[in-house]
Amino acid sequence: GLATEAQQGLITAHFGRQVEVEAQEGALKGQRQRCHVRANVENLVTGDYVSWRPNQNPNEEGVVESRQARRSLLARPDMRGVMKPIAANVDQLLLVIAPEPQPHANLIDRYLVAAEHTGIEPVVVINKWDLLEKGALTPEQEALIKGLLATYQQLGYRVLISSAYQEKDLTELQKQLKDKVSVFVGQSGVGKSSLINYLLPGVDLRVASLSEDTRKGRHTTTTARLFHFPLGGQLIDSPGVREFSLGYLQPEQIAQGFLEFRPFLGLCRFRDCKHQQDPGCALKEAVAEGKIAATRFASYHHLVNSLDS
Ligand code: GDP
Ligand code: ZN
Repeated sequence: GLATEAQQGLITAHFGRQVEVEAQEGALKGQRQRCHVRANVENLVTGDYVSWRPNQNPNEEGVVESRQARRSLLARPDMRGVMKPIAANVDQLLLVIAPEPQPHANLIDRYLVAAEHTGIEPVVVINKWDLLEKGALTPEQEALIKGLLATYQQLGYRVLISSAYQEKDLTELQKQLKDKVSVFVGQSGVGKSSLINYLLPGVDLRVASLSEDTRKGRHTTTTARLFHFPLGGQLIDSPGVREFSLGYLQPEQIAQGFLEFRPFLGLCRFRDCKHQQDPGCALKEAVAEGKIAATRFASYHHLVNSLDS
């Protein structure tokens, strides 16, 4: 095919050595084309901005020539534990929880710590709020979910409520998604797919994420895909993105990820304080004085100990 001028593009999917690029300017704006990637351009992921040359024949491949600097990068460990980038330029992490399945503070804190280390802003979304309004929860479930709402709000996190079953409970979430690149994370069963299906009408995510036709045959892929919300904003989604993880962090880095610990971290008696049973631990004192919630301190221990193994 005929060569064209280099222009800005956005990676919307990744298939082995090929990528799908969405034109960001000119006559092709919004259209997507399969591309091959110049050998000197490494580790492209969904969400990356690139310089590329579209092919004038839409059935032929374009070419990606360079990648632009990233403002953030999500990664997950591969089977050997090596961190692999999976999505670039994500602005916010929508951490979805619900009254059922029962939320675990450990898991919530794990995502929040991970977000701190990627520079991506976490937003806690409490889904299935309809259950609370209908009085369908046990008093224990209701107390737990309201307690989590208060805890994370007090820590300074943005906390939204939502319901995939009630339109009125989706407007706040839609506003939050506008003009930003988002990913949804959270344990299975909280309603991520239901929310996304509502927010992206007409897109079958299961099909989009599982298989892709290429001219060389049918390839199964779990690549992250980029979608545009009708009301503005973008979603990057895949099973891998939803389960991105901490990777290896030092205990000090984990402690830093607990925002309310930060003022106390230099104050322990011993420089190498593990904040476990160490005498003179400033964090332990802060817990005793009610300045740090005992549940968050327990969650910190859980996280550090789980990374040991
Ligand atoms: P995912 O695993 O996080 O993607 O969760 P799903 O979207 O598959 O939802 C799990 C279950 O919760 C399904 O039976 C949904 O119908 C239900 N569900 C999802 N969102 C809501 C909600 O807002 N309210 C209620 N009551 N149920 C919901
Ligand atoms: Zn300490």
